[in-house]
Amino acid sequence: MRLFSVAVAALLTVPIILVGCGKSPTFVAKEEPWRADVERACLGQVNLAKSPFITPRSALGGPSVCGALKPFDVSATASGRVRMKPAATLQCGMIPAVDRWLEAEVTPAARRYLHAEVVEIKVAASYACRPMNGVSGSKLSEHGHANALDVSAFHLSDGRTVTVKEGWNGGPGERDFLRTVHRAACTHFTTVLGPMANSFHHDHFHMDLARHGRDGSIRICQ
Ligand SMILES: [Zn+2]
Repeated sequence: MRLFSVAVAALLTVPIILVGCGKSPTFVAKEEPWRADVERACLGQVNLAKSPFITPRSALGGPSVCGALKPFDVSATASGRVRMKPAATLQCGMIPAVDRWLEAEVTPAARRYLHAEVVEIKVAASYACRPMNGVSGSKLSEHGHANALDVSAFHLSDGRTVTVKEGWNGGPGERDFLRTVHRAACTHFTTVLGPMANSFHHDHFHMDLARHGRDGSIRICQ
């Protein structure tokens, strides 16, 4: 019986390789029951239906392991004060995390370092059924679970735009703003990647709620 259990457990944890349609890159994915558990718990706790900026989506079009139970299109956050363009497709847990990051970190940092309000963030990516960093053969990206957001620019109330690509090593105001909101994102997300992480992230911040380590206590902040 013990042998049988071990064999079944081994089977359940063996990665499966999925091949995308046509020119889509392949990725490696495995069964991860915690994802649905976490999403269901979030849907039971967070009332997203009341916001005019959050629209439920019926389905996501990825093959097999891609997607989420109940994804949403989010067109603004921070009580509607900050537009998200284009609207981001996110699952439940990401929505309050993005909101808290904007309210508690981005807004005060913009006032302090740029003397302006952030009125819009440029969404470089949200849901996408693809491998990590778009590299064929890699693990399925958190974007494939609608559990990640890429932000490449911040539009300000005075008409300026701060981009991660130019501002990371730009003038002191932009530089301090970007480095502050990048570092602060690490308290709201379990993975935060920016220009210091690797060349894939030279022009955007990647933030997700992946589970790192056995008990999910590890955070990646680069
Ligand atoms: Zn990303």
